[in-house]
Amino acid sequence: MTDIRQLCCEKARLRVSDSKIVCPRHASVEVRHRIAAIDTRAPEIGIPAIQPAQGATWSMNYAWPYGSHGDLGARERLIEWASKRRLTWSKKSRCFHALLFGSCAIRDCSVSDSRGVPLLNEVTGLGLDARWMDHVTLWERDKIPALLLSQPYTDASDVRDVLTLPGPQSALQVEILDRGWHTPAAAYLGFRLDERVSPAGSVPVCSSCRSRRSRHWQVHRTTLDWLCLSCWGGDPYDVPDGCEYKSGERREMRRWHALAVAFRGTASTDKEIAA
Ligand SMILES: [Zn+2]
Ligand SMILES: [Zn+2]
Ligand SMILES: [Zn+2]
Repeated sequence: MTDIRQLCCEKARLRVSDSKIVCPRHASVEVRHRIAAIDTRAPEIGIPAIQPAQGATWSMNYAWPYGSHGDLGARERLIEWASKRRLTWSKKSRCFHALLFGSCAIRDCSVSDSRGVPLLNEVTGLGLDARWMDHVTLWERDKIPALLLSQPYTDASDVRDVLTLPGPQSALQVEILDRGWHTPAAAYLGFRLDERVSPAGSVPVCSSCRSRRSRHWQVHRTTLDWLCLSCWGGDPYDVPDGCEYKSGERREMRRWHALAVAFRGTASTDKEIAA
């Protein structure tokens, strides 16, 4: 809740410090200089310009991501953070699919609750709560999605207590900080991908009869061996320990497999992958 004493007048809309929100008329020369200084640097981290016809205003000449659009200090922290890490803002879908596979084909995925969280949890055993995906931005390095950043209004220690972090060999690394560039009340959860996950190949293929035709599969969580329903010869609802039942579109199974390869050895160490 904004304290009314922080506002210069009823037209105030840009936060310029912890205790001050100003309008164009009451913005100081110093504030104007700060706006101009970060506006010059916005293109450097890929923030797109807003045209006057699209509603550009004195303090909004660039499409600053949610979490920084009404807060000058947040924009300044954002610029420093992104340029130090050589990251540029991505206009792709802000979801784990885009981070893990380079793009996402699900309509409005980034505004949905899931954002690929169930898939990520299933494969990595990370234990991420979808409610921690808030004020999400996707960042690229060399035009490839490299980091998905969430800055939820959550205590970072609560997140640390719950997550089972991937081991050092995992392609996915999770960075949890007490705060990011958003307001001080928001924690920082950075999901960094050091290696692209490619869902290529002929998976699933039966490790026993080499068939690819089955609609129903059993996959071993550690060896990632697939077994078709005929070779398995069992009841799809009676899956042996350490295995999972899979059925569905081939594309989805290939993605699952690719993720499991990337994260192998990280999830099944002390906590079993959630089935
Ligand atoms: Zn004012
Ligand atoms: Zn997606
Ligand atoms: Zn088979």
